[in-house]
Amino acid sequence: MSGCEARDAKKLVRSPSGLRMVPEHRSARSPFGLDEPPWVPDKECPRCMQCDTKFDFITRKHHCRRCGKCFCDKCCSKKVPLPRMCFVDPVRQCAECALISQKETEFYDKQLKVLMNGATFFVTLGTSDKSELMVCRLSNNQRYLVLDGDSHYEIEIVQISTVQILTEGFTPGGGNTRAIGMILQYKVPGSEELTQMKFTASEDFSCNKKLSATWLAAMHKATKLLYESRDQ
Ligand SMILES: [Zn+2]
Ligand SMILES: [Zn+2]
Repeated sequence: MSGCEARDAKKLVRSPSGLRMVPEHRSARSPFGLDEPPWVPDKECPRCMQCDTKFDFITRKHHCRRCGKCFCDKCCSKKVPLPRMCFVDPVRQCAECALISQKETEFYDKQLKVLMNGATFFVTLGTSDKSELMVCRLSNNQRYLVLDGDSHYEIEIVQISTVQILTEGFTPGGGNTRAIGMILQYKVPGSEELTQMKFTASEDFSCNKKLSATWLAAMHKATKLLYESRDQ
């Protein structure tokens, strides 16, 4: 049995920033995860890094959990969920980071579920001229794309090197474009070469096509998080 759907054991850890629920093994962590930043040391930070107020007994300093910089209470008062760092509760963040984390909330609340529910595509492997109708979804542990049709594939997200979303209805402002497909390039373990897989939204079922477009938009966002997690 593959590890694709295994429920990874998790443990509760306490960091200076708060409680985190993390996988027992680092290899089981989400490909969209971020490491906690190191905190700027107190002695390097006599003033708020946003409004320049000097810290003293009354004006206390706080560290933003997302960027690790020092701020006064006024500039770092928002508590926002930060699932990418596995925090159990919302955590204190500076205004800039809070905005980014709030935008990611939509990914975690909606788009991640869209990806896990799956959508139907014609899938073409490599240079083959045959395509197969398959349901494509993200595994519950966020680490695999699982494809089911007559064949079955599991692509580990960390092995994906590029994701290209194909669109139609191009306008100069990008207004009415709709995602109609995707080209994935990924490494098969044990092989050095990249394998290519093309996904095309089904033309035959109009309702599925809309679902496929929503799924592809979610995949587009997931790709941005994935690249960001790799670059950290
Ligand atoms: Zn401040
Ligand atoms: Zn911050």
